[in-house]
Amino acid sequence: MITIEENKSLQQLHTFHLSVSARWFAEYQSIEELIDLLKTDLLRENPFLQIGGGSNLLFTSDYEGVILHSKIKFIEVVSETSEYVTVKAGSGVVWDDFVKYSVSNGWGGAENLSLIPG
Ligand SMILES: Cc1cc2nc3c(=O)[nH]c(=O)nc-3n(C[C@H](O)[C@H](O)[C@H](O)COP(=O)(O)OP(=O)(O)OC[C@H]3O[C@@H](n4cnc5c(N)ncnc54)[C@H](O)[C@@H]3O)c2cc1C
Repeated sequence: MITIEENKSLQQLHTFHLSVSARWFAEYQSIEELIDLLKTDLLRENPFLQIGGGSNLLFTSDYEGVILHSKIKFIEVVSETSEYVTVKAGSGVVWDDFVKYSVSNGWGGAENLSLIPG
C-alpha cells in the first residue's frame, strides 16, 4: 500500500538526525506502486528524492518536495551452485538485515560487510 504523509520529520530517517522535515513523504511496497506514484500529480509537479537508510545524506534544511522511501523487502535466491549463490533483494531491505540473512543461511562473503549503515 502507498502511504503519503505531509510535513514528515526526517530526524529518524537519516543518520545525522538533524531536525528537518519533508513537505511530503511517500512510501511504496512494490515496483508497481512506485510506477503508480511516479504518475501522480504530486510527483509530476514537485521535486523528489529517493532515500534509503539516509547514511549518505546530510539535510541542511527542510526538503520542499517529496521524499520517496522504498519498503520493498523481499530477499530471494536467483540461482545456486555448489560454490555460489546469487541473491536478489528489494531496495527497502536494510543492509545489515541482508548480512544476517546471508549468515543464517550459511552463505559466506557478506559477513565481511557487516555493520555498514544504510
Ligand atoms: C560510517 C559509515 C561507514 C561506511 N562504510 C562503508 C564501507 O565500508 N563500505 C561501503 O561500501 N560503504 C560504506 N558506507 C557507505 C554506505 O554503504 C552508504 O551509506 C550506503 O550505501 C548508502 O545507503 P543508504 O540506504 O543510507 O542511502 P541514502 O543515504 O539514503 O542515499 C544515498 C544515495 O542513494 C540514493 N538512493 C537511496 N536509495 C535508493 C533507491 N532505492 N533507489 C535509487 N537511489 C537510491 C539516494 O537518492 C542518494 O543519492 C559507509 C557509510 C557510513 C556512514
